[in-house]
This record gives sequence, C-alpha cells and structure tokens, in this order.
Amino acid sequence: MQILDGKIVSQSVKENVKGKVILFKKEGKKTPHLAAVLVGSNGASETYVASKVKNCEEVGFKSTLIRLDETISENELITAIEKLNNDEDVDGILVQLPLPKQINEETIINIIHPDKDVDGFHPVSIGKLVQGLPTFIPATPYGIMLMLEHYKIETSGKHAVVIGRSNIVGRPISILLSRNTYPGNCTVTVCHSRTKNLKEICLQADIIVAALGIPEFLKEDMVKEDAVVIDVGITRVPDATKKSGFAIKGDVDFANVSPKCSYITPVPGGVGLMTIAALLMNTFTACENKYR
Ligand code: NAD
Repeated sequence: MQILDGKIVSQSVKENVKGKVILFKKEGKKTPHLAAVLVGSNGASETYVASKVKNCEEVGFKSTLIRLDETISENELITAIEKLNNDEDVDGILVQLPLPKQINEETIINIIHPDKDVDGFHPVSIGKLVQGLPTFIPATPYGIMLMLEHYKIETSGKHAVVIGRSNIVGRPISILLSRNTYPGNCTVTVCHSRTKNLKEICLQADIIVAALGIPEFLKEDMVKEDAVVIDVGITRVPDATKKSGFAIKGDVDFANVSPKCSYITPVPGGVGLMTIAALLMNTFTACENKYR
C-alpha cells in the first residue's frame, strides 16, 4: 500500500506556481491576485480561508480577504462581488461556502464573473468542463486529478465508483474521470444517498472516491484488494484529547481499509491540501488568461 501524500504533491504544485509567478514578474506582468469573501465567522470556513490566504502569500500572489457580517443581505453581498468583478487587479474571486441562510448560494455563484471563477462553480465553468473545454475545474476534483497524475496511477479502462453527487465534488470528479484523456477514461458509477446496493458496487471498483461527509463510512468489506481509494471527507468530530476539542475524520475507515489498497489518501494530509494547490493553479490561470 502506498500513501498518496497531499503534502508532497501540493508542495510540488506550489513550487511550480511559485516559479511561474517569478517568471511573470520578470516579464513585467502583474502579480496574480485572489480575493476571498468570508461571510460570518463559521469556525471551519475561517480555517479554510486563512489557509487559502496563507498559501497565496507562499507562492507570491496578492490576496485580499473581505470579511462581511453574518447578517448581510443578499443584495449587499452581490454589490461586494460586483465590485470585485469590476476590479481590474483582481484575477480570481472565491466566496467561501456555506453562506448564511438569508443568502441563496446559487444566486451568488452565478454573479461571479466566469473569467474570475477560480472555484469553478459557475454554470459556464461547469458547462465547459462537461464539454471538455479549457476552464476552471472545481478545486477539489482538480486536486484529485493532479494527485492521480503525480503518482502516475493508471485510470484507463478502470471502474471508478464515486460516492456523492454534489456539484462541488462528486459530480465534477465523475465527469473528469470519464473524459477521454489522462487521468480519465474510467467507467464511472456515481452513487448517492438513494443507491441501494452500494457495497456490491464498491466491491467492483478499481478506484473509489468517497465524498459523502459521513466519517469512516467506507469499511474494509466494501473494498476489493488493490483498489485505489481517494478520501475526500472532512468532518470535525468531538475529541476531548485534542486541544481544539475536535478531530478531523475522513469518509474512509483508514486503519482497516488501507491494508487492502494499492494507494490511499490520508485525512488529513491528502485531498484537502490538494484542493488549495488546485485553487492556486486556477488563480494563476485566471491571471495568465489576461495576456492571451
Ligand atoms: P454534500 O453534502 O453536498 O454531498 C454529499 C453527497 O453524499 C450527496 O450527493 C449524497 O447523496 C451522498 N450521500 C449522503 N449519504 C450517503 C450514503 N449513506 N450513501 C451514499 N451516498 C450518500 O457534500 P460535499 O460538499 O460533496 O462534501 C462531501 C465531503 O467532502 C464532506 O465531508 C466535505 O467536508 C468534504 N469536502 C472536502 C473537501 C476537501 O478539500 N478535501 C472539499 C469539499 C468537500
């Protein structure tokens, strides 16, 4: 069994981006600029955004964090995003989800200009992804693809089972894995909360992507020998032994599943780190596109 190490791969992606930024500056081009919008003060969202901003600094990007009050109206948020859409210096915009209940997430995603949609959630980005056109790929699925590529994992003709059909992970990764390219060319089965014989389906999988958000859901009796297991889940579970009071758990029962796998991602230290690396790639691309 080999660990797919998010630390190693994300570091290599970041070095690559950092090198491109240096070259860009030498050529007199602008500094890539990511604007992150955080509404309210959800603990997990705070952590994610802080990490994204820190990673921007590490690769030489400019970043702006816009904090807005939990009680902000949808119209006020739209105005803030439109300002960023019109700001020539801003290359990428991300609005940290989830948003407070008075705000419709779909409306907000649709407001971000597709040229600055570095999260890849806009319908234009998703439409291009489906058609196999160059676009911003949602960061988590993009991170998974970069990971598969880094470890040169064979995907052609393999049966990939994706557990979860969300717009940000399950659905886009299922489309990417089925594309006629590398990584891709998989036969993909998408499973979800209504899937009846999930265990039998998983047992046929060469590659399993677990993205459902139920800690340690995937057990060893659901995985065949030598499967590749990608664990997307991130759930905070109470843990009195931790200073923070919680532990991070993935969707895979790592201790029991890992001995059966050819490759597996750990949580933490796997897909989460790749998500940020992919966001940096998208932000650089958004900036680079201005010179095309
Ligand atoms: P979501 O809640 O939007 O979607 C969950 C999906 O799982 C749904 O499509 C649902 O049908 C399916 N599902 C639920 N229960 C199921 C069951 N018993 N059997 C089969 N399918 C079931 O979640 P999401 O936004 O896609 O996130 C999934 C997990 O990935 C969460 O833990 C989230 O925190 C994590 N996540 C991690 C990253 C990262 O960077 N690593 C990024 C995004 C999300």
